[in-house]
Amino acid sequence: MTALPGQLRAIVGEAHVLTRDQGDDLSPWEQDWRKRARGRALAVVRPGSAGEVAAVVQACAAAGHGIVPQGGNTGLVVGSVPDDSGTQVLLSLARLNRVREIDAANLTMTAEAGCVLQAVQAAADRAGLLFPLSLAAEGSCTIGGNLATNAGGTQVLRYGNARDLCLGLEVVTAAGDIWHGLGGLRKDNTGYDLRDLFVGSEGTLGIITAATLRLHPRPACRLTAWAALPSLEAAVGLLGLAQRHLGADLTGFEVMGRFALSLVDRHMPQLRVPLWQQAPFCVLLENSDSESEAHARSRFERLLASALEDGLVNDAVVAESLQQARQLWHIRESIPLAQAEEGLNIKHDISLPVSRIPAFCAETDALLQREIPGVRLVNFGHLGDGNLHYNVQAPAGGDPAAFLREQEERVNTLVFDQVSRHGGSISAEHGIGSLKAGTLPRYKDPVALELMRRIKQALDPQGILNPHRVLLP
Ligand code: FAD
Ligand code: ZN
Repeated sequence: MTALPGQLRAIVGEAHVLTRDQGDDLSPWEQDWRKRARGRALAVVRPGSAGEVAAVVQACAAAGHGIVPQGGNTGLVVGSVPDDSGTQVLLSLARLNRVREIDAANLTMTAEAGCVLQAVQAAADRAGLLFPLSLAAEGSCTIGGNLATNAGGTQVLRYGNARDLCLGLEVVTAAGDIWHGLGGLRKDNTGYDLRDLFVGSEGTLGIITAATLRLHPRPACRLTAWAALPSLEAAVGLLGLAQRHLGADLTGFEVMGRFALSLVDRHMPQLRVPLWQQAPFCVLLENSDSESEAHARSRFERLLASALEDGLVNDAVVAESLQQARQLWHIRESIPLAQAEEGLNIKHDISLPVSRIPAFCAETDALLQREIPGVRLVNFGHLGDGNLHYNVQAPAGGDPAAFLREQEERVNTLVFDQVSRHGGSISAEHGIGSLKAGTLPRYKDPVALELMRRIKQALDPQGILNPHRVLLP
């Protein structure tokens, strides 16, 4: 058992295996971003190539040790840190951080798994192109982690999620083989789609070492507007109107409830949230125009005039400058931080058919208020994708830690049963990890769950890849 770190050192070099016995501090790799779990690793290993990843997997498999892949460790469902057994090997992909190739004519980039998302966006930008995946953790999350969780973010409405932006993969299997599946083909019907199987598998089926990504032309101009709305029904109405006016140029449609914005106003007063006191909801719209700023502005103005006339919008502002647009996005992205300032809370990352969102929220808000008087709802999210971050905060003046301890399971059941009743999903973009692995069987179709188990058994019969994540034994 203790021979394994020595074998790992022989594969990747002394400097790239960290252990507690040697006096190394492993805590940055053992603590998850939300501070929901702290694990204990046998070793942290940092290979520098796909070949080294394969050799590490073979050594761990031979010794019977579980492997936990980790990219930027920004995941929100406790999937990227070891358990507390002290036997799992934490495999960091951070050193695989090279952009291998950009093929501008084919609109593709091949990048290694440990490339930070922001670096991938910047590399595309330098080539005069766009890699549209965008989320608040982009300064530290990695492309491998984005694909392993099939990340969403703020541009899904137009460009799809991480899966839609991936054309090929290089993967190390549980047997320590390398599947060379890179390549920029948009059409390839040669059997089962292994790429789509590994995307979203949260490190439980294979270790992604590189990916061929789909790039897009850069828009000529991006314009952002902020609108105050009388209701969620109006938000759904405005989404439809914006889709009719802007077509594929509508690249962002985010909704924010008044209480969510009040937290930003309270904890980050310097951000100066517009219009939030006037209406129960605000919406942030983004229009990416392929012609010019003048063209974008006139289309936005026509859309907003029509929305005002239909009573869908009470008031609206269009950003005058890039800096103002960034400021508006910054407000939206600050909601989770403002919420953390307010205290621990119960997070839900749910999706529903857009048409069901108003009824879902009306019913579930009322249900929670009845069950836990005074409970506060921090409701915001990617309305254009039917994805809400429907978070539940303790009543004012209550003890947030006690609320989480005593109410989390009950609140989850109330919310998820409602989600299920309305035809939704209990995880839209963050995944299952350990946090929701116990909950999944209640809501996933039993036949689908059984097929998932058989796939796991076929690809990882020893159960060494990210054990007990997504599927419990
Ligand atoms: P990690 O956290 O390191 O890992 C996540 C999972 O993927 C783990 O199960 C891990 O084992 C596995 N994994 C990592 N790398 C590999 C690999 N190379 N091969 C196989 N498995 C691997 N998510 C969204 O979808 N949309 C958002 O808008 C969004 N906003 C966020 C905002 C903030 C402030 C934060 C902290 C997180 C946010 N997230 C969001 C969550 C998160 O999913 C993303 O940050 C990201 O996709 C995770 O990438 P990572 O490199 O940090 O992965
Ligand atoms: Zn999100």
